[in-house]
Amino acid sequence: MEVLYNSTRSKGTPVKASEAILKGLSDDGGLFVPNHIPALDKSLKELAEMSYQQVAYEVMKLYLTDFTEEELKTCIERAYDSKFDTEVIAPLVEAEGAYYLELFHGSTIAFKDMALSILPHLMITSARKNHIKNEIVILTATSGDTGKAALAGFANVEGTRIIVFYPKNGVSPIQEKQMVTQKGDNTFVVGIHGNFDDAQTGVKKIFSDKELAKEMDEKGFQFSSANSINIGRLVPQICYYVYSYVTLLKEGKIAEGDKINVVVPTGNFGNILAAFYAKNMGLPIAKLICASNDNKVLYDFFRTGTYDRNREFVLTSSPSMDILISSNLERLIYRIAGNDADKNKELMAALSGQGKYEITAGMKEELNDFYGNYASEAETADEINRLYQTCGYVIDTHTAVASAVYQKYLKETVDSTKTVIASTASPFKFTRSVMNAIDAKYDAMGDFELVDELSRIANVAVPQAIEEIRTAPVVHDTQCDVDKMKDTVKGFLNI
Ligand SMILES: *Cc1c(COP(=O)(O)O)cnc(C)c1O
Repeated sequence: MEVLYNSTRSKGTPVKASEAILKGLSDDGGLFVPNHIPALDKSLKELAEMSYQQVAYEVMKLYLTDFTEEELKTCIERAYDSKFDTEVIAPLVEAEGAYYLELFHGSTIAFKDMALSILPHLMITSARKNHIKNEIVILTATSGDTGKAALAGFANVEGTRIIVFYPKNGVSPIQEKQMVTQKGDNTFVVGIHGNFDDAQTGVKKIFSDKELAKEMDEKGFQFSSANSINIGRLVPQICYYVYSYVTLLKEGKIAEGDKINVVVPTGNFGNILAAFYAKNMGLPIAKLICASNDNKVLYDFFRTGTYDRNREFVLTSSPSMDILISSNLERLIYRIAGNDADKNKELMAALSGQGKYEITAGMKEELNDFYGNYASEAETADEINRLYQTCGYVIDTHTAVASAVYQKYLKETVDSTKTVIASTASPFKFTRSVMNAIDAKYDAMGDFELVDELSRIANVAVPQAIEEIRTAPVVHDTQCDVDKMKDTVKGFLNI
């Protein structure tokens, strides 16, 4: 059955998957949601016989119904190839009774690769299907991880260019080095003299500049966005939850139909929403455990039914989860409001006006499958150390937030259901925080010395992504003031 996409904020005409991917956001500011969540049409036993790529096809074909089999399979082949350092793409590692689903084996060693390695291919296929002749220009503001993953995904993809803006003094040295050494003639990286909010606001302004859009069109360009509200990022994320379940099944850890729990370290609510969609497709998931760091807006929301962003923003050692507005939560709100765009719009207006909203008791009941909790900075560091000391397995700070929250959940519930923990970054991406958690003496070492020491104590080879930046030449050195972002874009495009 065909799946069409509605906006969460109005009852306009639904669009096809390819149109939703090209647009990113609906014109009314809403997010695109599928008009129904399709059911898996292969048995779990059948899926257990398949490779990651085959499972991905079986899941994505149900959502991207206007793609042909050949189109979709080509996108999948190009995305999940030797860019990943393991054939299984998303391995499951058992440690201390839980299963860590390692989503960091792609080119930038964080889970954003799972979706950003396929999004460029979905996007150029969508452009072709909709007879778009223009070159697609991806504009992205980044606080670190997304920028590099988007650059790596779009680099050398024909028919696209990518421009990334990052705060010149607001990302880690490793993150900056990863971006400014990015290869590919179609990639552009700019350090702005401002913070992440300035970068984000500047990009939004360029996106909504009608005059510029017209000028671009005349010269054969149009903008698109790769940020995490794009349905082309959400759908690929559903696949690895299905894959993790059938991997457990294949390995005899569970029987067909047994339920599992899923724990997700959460920021923008994209990753856990994908798990929620997987559950609603028929994947036997019991609890969806939503883990936050000290920015615990979501924990408070699940507890009280009030979402309130009026609070201090805390910088933590898990920066990709330092978020006070979880954009993808809007898709869940829309759904628990009974797919009521008016009700959702009212709540989102309250969020942008007063910075908070409260859901009804009926809506709150719909959230029973979710469990929310958070881990403080100390609890996160302790969890990294605990796991290392007990079994030698080293996890990153984001994964440690999830792992620490799972420990709290276990204490509270004594629930023995088999549990998958989404492991969202390699410890090599956050080496300093990880090593300091294991022993304070490491603080005296340099960045790359720490990398080698981590490799030694964890008995894991240094990932290619880190080896590359050790010696890679800087190829991007553009900087600009916040009010010159538009001119910089025009300069890159020669218009
Ligand atoms: C982006 C990110 C997250 C948060 O994922 P959301 O989909 O935004 O909830 C968690 N961990 C890492 C390492 C990330 O890069």
